Amino acid sequence: MTDREPTKNISGGDAGGGNEARFDPATAGTRAEAVVDRLGELYWTKTYGGRDAFECLVRTILSQNTSDTASQPAHDALVDRYSGDSADLVDALAEADQQTLAETIQSAGLYNQKSERIIAIAGVVREEFGGEAGFDEFVRDEDADIVRDRLLEMNGVGPKTADCVLLFAGGRGGVFPVDTHVHRIARRMGLAPADADHETVREYIERDVPGEKCGFGHTAMIQFGREYCKARKPACLDDPEACPLADRCDQVGVYPASGEVVDPSAAD
Ligand code: SF4
Repeated sequence: MTDREPTKNISGGDAGGGNEARFDPATAGTRAEAVVDRLGELYWTKTYGGRDAFECLVRTILSQNTSDTASQPAHDALVDRYSGDSADLVDALAEADQQTLAETIQSAGLYNQKSERIIAIAGVVREEFGGEAGFDEFVRDEDADIVRDRLLEMNGVGPKTADCVLLFAGGRGGVFPVDTHVHRIARRMGLAPADADHETVREYIERDVPGEKCGFGHTAMIQFGREYCKARKPACLDDPEACPLADRCDQVGVYPASGEVVDPSAAD
């Protein structure tokens, strides 16, 4: 295993806390678990939890529809401006001037929409949970389904965002957020039906991967998507030996003979 989780990851990277997850790859009970074990050997094997829930929520909203590279400076600028030594980030953002916040998070894109949503969510969190500490407690201690449902009711929070908060702040096992990389890779590999939407992919993976492996399964699969199973040019396209997971993969929608790549739902 290499321990090189990028610091710009939404998990906080190496500095983001979490514990080493130990397991025996020889005992995988499903193909999805065997894939996650291999990803762990390739990258890292961590459990997550302990991030500030509200900051994690804001960070995930900033990351929507953009890369971590673009959203990280926006997150850092936001924290610099609104999270002083004694300031509660929830209070500061609930009272933020929308134009100023939009300028602060500009690098993340969609900054007008994101700034409006963040201010509105901060207002809801302040009213309902009293601030950062109360929201942390709710995310960490309340029933996971109740937390997920409440997060999903907030404007701008979709399943991936809710699941990232449950995983990185709540430390909940068995939560495997499905982003665009996980959605593509799971269907290409045949870990979920080719036409599965994000929620269906999540159901298949959470069914097949043990709870303590879901966290690093998510972050390591994203890294694998960046390095090997890229959207337009998966590593196997030119060289069948180039992908370390080729022996576990159905290559749905990937045609090395013609050099063609299509979404798995459009595969023959
Ligand atoms: S064999 Fe190709 S399609 Fe399958 S995981 Fe590797 S790069 Fe992706």
